[in-house]
Amino acid sequence: MVNKLIILGIDGMDLDVVLRYREDLPNLTGMLEKNGMPHLRSVFPADTTPAWSTIYTGLDPTGHGIINFVNVGAKENAYKPFEFDDSAFKGKTFWDHLNEKGYSCGVILPMNIKEGWDINGVMITRPYEGRMRVHPQSRRELYQPKEKLLSTEPKYTSEKSLPALRDEFFAKAEEETRLTRLMMEHENLDVLFAYFSTTDGIQHDFWRHCDPDHPQYPGRNEYENVIRDMYIYMDNFIGEVAQKQRGTPILVLSDHGHGARPVRVARINELLKRGGYLAPKGSSGSSKPSGKKKFKKFLKNTCVGFVKKVGLPKWAMKLARKFPVWKSLFASSNDFDWNNTRAYLSDLSAMKNYSYGGIRLNDTVEDKDALADEIIEYLKGIEIEGEGRPLFEWIVRTNTFYHGQYLNKYPEIIYQMDEHWGGEWELGEKIFEQSGHMHAMSPGGHRWRTAVIAGKNLELNRKNYEMTDIYSVIMENVK
Ligand SMILES: [Zn+2]
Repeated sequence: MVNKLIILGIDGMDLDVVLRYREDLPNLTGMLEKNGMPHLRSVFPADTTPAWSTIYTGLDPTGHGIINFVNVGAKENAYKPFEFDDSAFKGKTFWDHLNEKGYSCGVILPMNIKEGWDINGVMITRPYEGRMRVHPQSRRELYQPKEKLLSTEPKYTSEKSLPALRDEFFAKAEEETRLTRLMMEHENLDVLFAYFSTTDGIQHDFWRHCDPDHPQYPGRNEYENVIRDMYIYMDNFIGEVAQKQRGTPILVLSDHGHGARPVRVARINELLKRGGYLAPKGSSGSSKPSGKKKFKKFLKNTCVGFVKKVGLPKWAMKLARKFPVWKSLFASSNDFDWNNTRAYLSDLSAMKNYSYGGIRLNDTVEDKDALADEIIEYLKGIEIEGEGRPLFEWIVRTNTFYHGQYLNKYPEIIYQMDEHWGGEWELGEKIFEQSGHMHAMSPGGHRWRTAVIAGKNLELNRKNYEMTDIYSVIMENVK
């Protein structure tokens, strides 16, 4: 039994997708309608790791610091995965603070938490180094979490393995809901927080199969309802929880929205070059690709084709994450003349072709604010070729948006382009290019403004919520 509040955190659930399938999602739509359709905006950038860290602590990413940008301009160009351990969170999360107020908490599979810690209540962690922990250990017998099913290894999969991949997602969802059900039935808690991962993963992998408007939609296919079915699965579970816990307030939320990863790309570095802010290496302004560049492009296309066709085995994925080969294929510090470059695209969209991103200023720039403002004015005027609309929906100096102690982790400028366009690192004759590369490997991508917030038996009075508000929404509703 949960007495005060149940929080169901559903990774990557998108408000527009919920509305698209509203007929099939009676529980969620019922809640949303009662709440007056509130909006929830993710953190910037809309990534899983910083967003959940914000939900846990109430701090924006420049406040909690769980955010990483690879500085492509850095000399050694080393791609190091961002490492943090539980000390980043222990004692700082909403459940720790609820514990301090005397409320017991159940925490199930919290994203970002590795080994977990003892709390007043029960915590079941995600698989970390092949093991899941149950705190207290004495409850392990009751839950018997299935490590294998919940393994979080990222992977790109081939067309051939799609049926297995789909089944894996649903098996995972079943295990996540099984643990939540057990906790509701066997514990007596004040607050329960359960995290569900599969909505995000299934959209990343199956988006193009389910979206007839996607340029790579293959036509009617056996996966065309996979995303809808996962939403239905989650909606049924929300209904089940509401049914079993009549009267207990329920908060449903996601960490960011989800949509198609842009297929078309805008060459941001080329724009910066034309504005006089970036100098290519060893050339006097010519955009003609060198032999080496051409080879790189060939390699990139071949690579993507290969991955799509046969998939990337786990060992290759591990290798790619350890060594910079993969990354340097997409963005390399060798591309530019750093003595004469003042601004360049940050990795955040260079590698993912996302429509949001950042621009970094070279460390040698003296008045960074002045240069940032100048570049922002220049880019605001850029229109999408043939469409007469501005490319940037929104572009600001980062220090006017966030103010925390880790602000220096961010590029100096952040932006949101039109959602159909992703950022591209490479220079080229054309600014606007019809095809990027990342969408082929992972057709779904995160969206910033369309996270989900819905409640039952609790008040959501506002029209617009920021991710940084969630912490106080939780605290205010536990009385
Ligand atoms: Zn996420």
